[in-house]
Amino acid sequence: MKPAIPMTNGRPHQARKRFGQNFLHDQGVIQRIIDAIHPVNEDHLLEIGPGQGALTRPLADSGARLDCVELDRDLADFLQKQFSGRDNVTIIQQDVLKFDLASLVDGEEPVLRVIGNLPYNISTPVMFHLLKRHSLIRDMVFMLQLEVVQRLAAKPGDKNYGRLGLMTQYYCDVQHLFNVPSAAFTPRPKVSSAIVRLVPHQQFPVAARDVGCLQVVVRTAFNQRRKTLKNSLKAIISEERLMSLPLEMGQRPENLSLEDYVLISDALSDELADSGTSG
Ligand code: SAM
Repeated sequence: MKPAIPMTNGRPHQARKRFGQNFLHDQGVIQRIIDAIHPVNEDHLLEIGPGQGALTRPLADSGARLDCVELDRDLADFLQKQFSGRDNVTIIQQDVLKFDLASLVDGEEPVLRVIGNLPYNISTPVMFHLLKRHSLIRDMVFMLQLEVVQRLAAKPGDKNYGRLGLMTQYYCDVQHLFNVPSAAFTPRPKVSSAIVRLVPHQQFPVAARDVGCLQVVVRTAFNQRRKTLKNSLKAIISEERLMSLPLEMGQRPENLSLEDYVLISDALSDELADSGTSG
């Protein structure tokens, strides 16, 4: 059976560019994404940007509790009607960037499974907004721009390695699952797409004393990619403290691992504590 099409003012809904609307229609791709998520009855799912419901229907059919956050009022109304008889589905008309994940759960356990073919124009802010509540999340499966997925998964020395990958890998294990052709969407996006799985660490393999310091160090290092670390980081930390670390400071920022950045971040935390300033 063909899924129902939402109507706006008596006409079929036109994709809204400002909301990053590229709707999935390829059933093969939709099934591959659902297989990767493998939703089961006991799950608590959160879908970001359900749109016309391409992923929402098979997710709902799993019987799992499914909460959906959609900004577009017309689409939220449409979905509300589509799923009115389904006790396991709740449609929330809201901007996900203003939505607090903690409102969905009672305890502190990592129970939420987050899914989304994300609006590409705000995908990075959405991921970092969700990561503020990383301890409540079991895993996340997202459709993103391929280039963003490559940056998320990049390792030291890769040309895509930088701030986005480092800060995401600080919180999560990142798996680039598969690529999706533009022909799978209506309208077709101008960029290539890919599916990524992010699994927040339950035990952080490497933890900075102050994650704010880590952000400052990584941002400062990658703002001047061509400079050596010694030259770029001396703006925020004394050369003496920097040179006391067991790291080669003549390297470029793309050559250091997350562990190396955490070492520098902790040194910055020490320096700020010594000087009586907090990070
Ligand atoms: N999930 C659908 C699919 O796969 O066909 C639609 C995906 S479309 C790329 C992105 C969806 O996110 C749209 O439905 C759009 O209206 C919604 N959206 C855009 N900005 C949003 C925001 N700030 N909060 C919640 N949803 C948003």
